Amino acid sequence: MSRLTVGIGDYGCVHYRRRCRIRSPCCGKVFSCRHCHNDAMNLNERDPSKRHDLPRHSVERVICSLCGSEQEVSQVCKKCQVCMGEYFCETCKFFDDDTTKNQFHCVSCGICRVGGKDNFFHCEKCGCCYSIQLQKRHFCVENAMHHNCPVCFNYLFDSVDQIAVMPCGHTIHAFCLTDMYRHSQYSCPMCSKSVCDMSSMWDTLDREVAATPMPDIYRDKMVWILCNDCGESSSLFSHYCSEMPSMWFLQYSADYCWLIKFFPQLIVQIL
Ligand SMILES: [Zn+2]
Ligand SMILES: [Zn+2]
Ligand SMILES: [Zn+2]
Ligand SMILES: [Zn+2]
Ligand SMILES: [Zn+2]
Ligand SMILES: [Zn+2]
Ligand SMILES: [Zn+2]
Ligand SMILES: [Zn+2]
Repeated sequence: MSRLTVGIGDYGCVHYRRRCRIRSPCCGKVFSCRHCHNDAMNLNERDPSKRHDLPRHSVERVICSLCGSEQEVSQVCKKCQVCMGEYFCETCKFFDDDTTKNQFHCVSCGICRVGGKDNFFHCEKCGCCYSIQLQKRHFCVENAMHHNCPVCFNYLFDSVDQIAVMPCGHTIHAFCLTDMYRHSQYSCPMCSKSVCDMSSMWDTLDREVAATPMPDIYRDKMVWILCNDCGESSSLFSHYCSEMPSMWFLQYSADYCWLIKFFPQLIVQIL
């Protein structure tokens, strides 16, 4: 049996299976991976001045987990000839024995990603790799991924968690989006456009309006709305929605511009 496969899958940390540890270029300490380093140096570090992330591209030395010899970064151990990572990226100094993640390095992103090269394309304008399902089918936003998630404020571009692209082109963690749904938030926190197909909601409200005639005091009240989805503004008759006490006035135009207190897709002004 070739030395290359010895110990495959037997070494690593909770983040990666790999047969080496890395010498941190920042603080000189040895860790299994950059996440182990960042957890130890941020989450568990009491002194704020000592907190820092590992600059992954600057890793220069690794320690073979089988023979313990410290050496320059390369895929195969110079001393015992074991392969230290079935997947290896020389640019990212990245090792992983679990290749089922289909890692690939994107030159434009400058980092390694998972999910298979063939399933992604790099959008130059958004500045990130997106699923090919979004190719020519997403709204490009300049450097869309190079900002923090609008919900949890963690940086999105190199996040290991799944990212969702909203119809407006803004980006967010998939689980943060789910969290928004759970709290009945259906508009982008950055631009207030709808984040999903709202037609069934609008249908429900249609029926609601039809079923609840307006009391006299509100009957002639006009409201001015700016629909953040379509960008049109208009004046409409208001409608109070009794079945949904938390919602105020609602009204619609032919193209389903809804006005409801709890749908910030619409900027509202009561005339
Ligand atoms: Zn460090
Ligand atoms: Zn780790
Ligand atoms: Zn070795
Ligand atoms: Zn890489
Ligand atoms: Zn990319
Ligand atoms: Zn794009
Ligand atoms: Zn988030
Ligand atoms: Zn948006």
